[in-house]
Amino acid sequence: MRDKIVAGNWKMNKDFKETEKMLAHLKSYSEPPDIKIMIAPSFTQLYQSVQSLKSTNISVVAQNIGIAQSGAYTGEVSPKMLQGIGVNTVIIGHSERRNIFQEDDAFLTKKIKIAIESNIRVIFCLGEKLEDRISNNHFEIVAEQLKRTLFNFSKESMKNIILAYEPIWAIGTGETATATQAQEMHFYIRNLISSRFNSKLANNVSILYGGSVKPNNAKEIFSESDVDGGLIGGASLNAEDFMKIANSF
Ligand code: PEP
Repeated sequence: MRDKIVAGNWKMNKDFKETEKMLAHLKSYSEPPDIKIMIAPSFTQLYQSVQSLKSTNISVVAQNIGIAQSGAYTGEVSPKMLQGIGVNTVIIGHSERRNIFQEDDAFLTKKIKIAIESNIRVIFCLGEKLEDRISNNHFEIVAEQLKRTLFNFSKESMKNIILAYEPIWAIGTGETATATQAQEMHFYIRNLISSRFNSKLANNVSILYGGSVKPNNAKEIFSESDVDGGLIGGASLNAEDFMKIANSF
């Protein structure tokens, strides 16, 4: 059975006080059984979140990771530092990191490598731009992203990988892929994983959908057989909306 996951990416939102309020609000909701709930606050709010959520099953995820354990990497945070405060999962390859910070597949592969070596679970994001979808190249683009990154690793490494298909045209735009579009891409990704590794592994990998998931569309998207949950941006900033989404299976 694959893990069902709802992960909230807070991006560069919520300072200390806002986080305190949000955590209290999140804890006031009962957690749906059998769904793994995760939140990804900013680095400065990770420790606070881990401490506050100790009494829950909600796990805390980092939005980024450095490419070494220590050294001259100004502005970076290492796997060891994350693990030291109880953070054992990281988002890698988000389209904002790829596009605003020019992180290409070669650089992302370094991040995946150190995360895997450090036994940190990775939520690896991939997805096509609008022009790729319009020109009907979306399958090819996603296949290339996988070949240049995750497919360089062994099948043992894949046990710590969660995938998030996030068509860039649907992120923060209010435009969502239809449930059918999400399902066909997730099915395609699972088949690629099966060909590269094996079908057992492919069947065990959780593939999340991300892109304007809201309380009013989550149920339809999550009902697709290859959609194992969501990576939620905007709607994860509101505890009520986020918990509604987590209850949409
Ligand atoms: C995201 O940033 O990963 C995301 C899916 O954002 P939104 O839900 O706001 O589209």
